[in-house]
Amino acid sequence: MDTYRGTLMCWALMWGTSTWASAAAAEPVDTGQGTTWAVHAERLIDVRDGSVQRDVVVAVRDGRIHALYAAGKVPADLAVRELGAVTLLPGLIDAHTHLTGDPKIGTWETLGRSEANDAITGVANALATVRAGFTTVRELGAYNHSSSALRDAIDRGEVPGPRIRSAGIWIGMRGGHCDTNLLAPQYAHYDAGIADGPWAVRAMVREMAKYGADLVKFCASGGVTTVGNEPGTQQYTTEEMDALVDEAHRLGMKVAAHAHGAEAIKTAIRAGVDSVEHASLIDEEGLRLAKQRGTWLVMDVYNGDYIEEVGSKEGWLAEILRKNRETTDVQREGFRRAVRLGVPLAFGTDAGIYPHGDNAIQFDYMVRFGMTPIQAIRSATLDAARLLGVDAETGSIEVGKAADLVAVAGDPLQDIALLRHPRFVVARGRIVRDELRTPSLPSPYVAPAQ
Ligand SMILES: [Zn+2]
Repeated sequence: MDTYRGTLMCWALMWGTSTWASAAAAEPVDTGQGTTWAVHAERLIDVRDGSVQRDVVVAVRDGRIHALYAAGKVPADLAVRELGAVTLLPGLIDAHTHLTGDPKIGTWETLGRSEANDAITGVANALATVRAGFTTVRELGAYNHSSSALRDAIDRGEVPGPRIRSAGIWIGMRGGHCDTNLLAPQYAHYDAGIADGPWAVRAMVREMAKYGADLVKFCASGGVTTVGNEPGTQQYTTEEMDALVDEAHRLGMKVAAHAHGAEAIKTAIRAGVDSVEHASLIDEEGLRLAKQRGTWLVMDVYNGDYIEEVGSKEGWLAEILRKNRETTDVQREGFRRAVRLGVPLAFGTDAGIYPHGDNAIQFDYMVRFGMTPIQAIRSATLDAARLLGVDAETGSIEVGKAADLVAVAGDPLQDIALLRHPRFVVARGRIVRDELRTPSLPSPYVAPAQ
């Protein structure tokens, strides 16, 4: 908190010329009751074509982008907040998060966690995430339906957080990556999303729909952060994956497949999944198949470094550290080939493995491994919005879309790392981060009543 206040002071000094354009804008909170307020920025990135517009005013009303004006053509009665030398981008999207999980909770500790514990952890992580500029996330599975409950609480305005597309509980085979395999047989423990066989898998998809999941996530291969399975090994059979995808799509739900191994990836793509998560060991045939079918790859190319550094220091299980080493560099090479080949790539980080709010660290890695800055930004805005099916609502700064905005000091097309330190964030018309205002005014974090 002290650090945060220090930052605020520092920015207030640097942006000493920033002023409120009128008294009406002095409390920059959209009450949702018909007030219109606006921000003026030096630059705005149009992610649709990668162009940069200069001197733009974005007007917000009822949580939506009401109008875009060139500076100088603004209606006289509009209260305009001067943001100064910042670049405005659409709110960012992380297509792979676990808000109700947290790296502070160790592998064994998860066994003692209640659904209530997870839900409360999720509230704190939702705030950290939205304040980091991520105004939309796709929640790819929890031990319970806590992500869906969090989504609903955020939608109702009870707690601040990003827009959530929730997968409910992860689905997988007995003893697989989506199961918990730490206990001896006498405890007879299986995770809630375990289903074996095509009809059991269909029934589990129906269960997710019954309890309000927006999409389905399943484990097609083994994983890194669990025990007793290998990332390279396929888990669900072709028959099970075909049944799962058929059932989900018929019910109008998209499907995300956790898949590291080359065969699991190809089987999942052929089954018709909408996205492949991790894709660490993808081969050339898999890359071509993904491109041809338009299957999104969501490759979490940052967190291998986090697991290596922090996991080694904290004594994470040896099996997890080994599997992490076996999938980190090869995944980044696969990412580089995917970029070169033009495979659809959406930004997703597996936040929860590393601390929530650090999501934007991955941008540096995506640029280092082959993307241009605008490609990386588009993967976390318009492209991710398409994968999530929310592109009519968010993903670009356009009149009529939700007012999801991020401002960074300077030009992220020159320095992508700037995205790690947003100065001003608006989520569905509410200001959730404001480091550009003067410190004499009230605390920048406000969760106003509807
Ligand atoms: Zn995950």
